[in-house]
Amino acid sequence: MPQLTLLTRISMFEFSTQKRDEFGLMNETPKQNALGDHYRVVIIGAGVGGLYLIKRLTDLGIDVVLLEGEGGVGGTWYRNRYPGARFDSESYTYGFSFSKSLLNEWHWQERYSPQPENLRYFNYVVEKFQLAEHIHFNCWLTHAHWQEAERHWWLALGDGRQLKADFVISAIGLLSVPTKPRYEGVDRFKGDSFHTFEWPDEPVSLEGKRVGVVGTGATGIQVIGEIAPIVDSLHVFQRRPNWAAPLNNSAISGAEMDDIRARYEEIFEFCSKTPGGFAHEPDRRGFWNFTREERVAFWDELYDQPGFSIWLANFREIFTDEIANAEFSDYIAGRIRARVFDPKIAEKLIPKDHGFGWQRVPMETNYYEAFNLPYVHLVDLNETPITKVTESGIETSDGLIALDLIVYATGFDAVTGAFNRIDIRGVGGRSLREKWADGPETYLGTLVSGFPNFMMVAGPQSASSLSNFPRAIEIGGDWIADLISHVMGTGCSRVEATKEAEAEWTAHVAEMYEALLMRKGKGWFTGYNSNLDGHTGERIHYFVYNGGAPKFHETLRSVASENYRGLTMS
Ligand SMILES: Cc1cc2nc3c(=O)[nH]c(=O)nc-3n(C[C@H](O)[C@H](O)[C@H](O)COP(=O)(O)OP(=O)(O)OC[C@H]3O[C@@H](n4cnc5c(N)ncnc54)[C@H](O)[C@@H]3O)c2cc1C
Repeated sequence: MPQLTLLTRISMFEFSTQKRDEFGLMNETPKQNALGDHYRVVIIGAGVGGLYLIKRLTDLGIDVVLLEGEGGVGGTWYRNRYPGARFDSESYTYGFSFSKSLLNEWHWQERYSPQPENLRYFNYVVEKFQLAEHIHFNCWLTHAHWQEAERHWWLALGDGRQLKADFVISAIGLLSVPTKPRYEGVDRFKGDSFHTFEWPDEPVSLEGKRVGVVGTGATGIQVIGEIAPIVDSLHVFQRRPNWAAPLNNSAISGAEMDDIRARYEEIFEFCSKTPGGFAHEPDRRGFWNFTREERVAFWDELYDQPGFSIWLANFREIFTDEIANAEFSDYIAGRIRARVFDPKIAEKLIPKDHGFGWQRVPMETNYYEAFNLPYVHLVDLNETPITKVTESGIETSDGLIALDLIVYATGFDAVTGAFNRIDIRGVGGRSLREKWADGPETYLGTLVSGFPNFMMVAGPQSASSLSNFPRAIEIGGDWIADLISHVMGTGCSRVEATKEAEAEWTAHVAEMYEALLMRKGKGWFTGYNSNLDGHTGERIHYFVYNGGAPKFHETLRSVASENYRGLTMS
């Protein structure tokens, strides 16, 4: 086992104090369970991915433990408690599909279920399958170093504990590290202020409050629609508008849920054949085979349909053909103009630098209508940038806006953020952070050359990242579980992706961007995260696999059937 250097100890101490505070853990009860010092498999993260893997591996009788940094399970749904946080996947397509009894027992209350219900669901899963005994909370992994001679990983936690693992499975999430605001004076503000990811568990009173929301991405759009009717005044600070479309959410009655239960097999089968694993598939009839009037009639229907229909059940050409996309974007712009009374505000809410669907489309409920309320104000940061946060509010170049509460909906250090916070070192001490400095390189979004016995569920460049996550997580998770039992079954103790296989997959991922207008987007799919220091936006990062979930799954199957092509085992 490597000796901890003084520097490592200090950095671990800092993690356990400053970072724990940053993560909001200082008030939580320290972990009580005794943690062993060597496991066959250690899973990191108790979101959908980690929970699926702990179930699969314990079912296989493998000695496994799951370490979670937070004080509870659910990952995305343990955090993100802000008003309006909910699925954009149909709830009944998001739940786990592996257990008939679970499917029969759970009643999704809404078509797009809100965060509290989602969190209850994951706790229910843990209780039903008795997974808690395998999970240790308040365990932030800070270091993971591969020990070639011993063929295991040495792991260190933020509180100084250490352990070993023959295999490590990362389930640390692609949207699990918030991007904090970097304005001068953020800490000086006397009222409440928090990032949406850190919205407190205890009720936050909004009535009679002067509220500021910074950011109009997917999260900001959810929050604004939800809180606008409640607050005394609302200032929305917008840097870049995003395209958004109505969620058209509704309750699911008992009878509807019975019907869904009876059709679960059919529903999941359908999802498995669609590019994103959603209950929507693209219309292949051909954009140009219809007149403009016919297209508009079709879009009028889609606009009133629930969820991602407007994006994913649209003509395929809106993803690939710039002219088709421009016509459709113009249609959506018309919808925004019709919903927002003040034409100047409507224009500011219409994106001019990208087309509809180049990024994952935020789904909204009463977002545009919020701007018709006399006390909701749009602050265009291109015209009047924020100069600082003061004790009493946000100051822009136009003066001080007095506020009682500031909500930072400033998004995530997406995809690689959670990896970058951990000191992961592979063969020869090579750092993953350095290897991925210009963007991730993986084999199948699951393995990394030079990092043996390290697997990622819902990793960068996997299909999960672009899809209805749990659908791809179950398939990717099964593949990982099968691979580990295969390696163990053959008496091997080391598995690694070859450099060639990794290069080929990474090139394939990049190539898949070429056909899609998404390559021009400036969201997290292209690794463009302008919230982060130092991002020039000049080079896109190939963060997600967009060849479609069916193709991805077929590739996983074929790799396994060809004796794990692209992997070396010894
Ligand atoms: C607001 C919001 C809404 C979303 N809605 C949808 C949706 O409707 N449909 C959809 O498909 N996807 C949605 N997503 C994407 C969502 O992230 C995935 O659906 C899914 O929850 C990802 O699960 P995961 O297990 O991969 O990661 P996460 O849920 O992010 O879980 C990762 C876990 O790892 C833990 N962790 C991270 N680093 C460490 C460390 N160093 N040590 C220990 N533990 C660590 C985290 O604390 C966390 O609990 C949404 C995301 C957000 C933010």
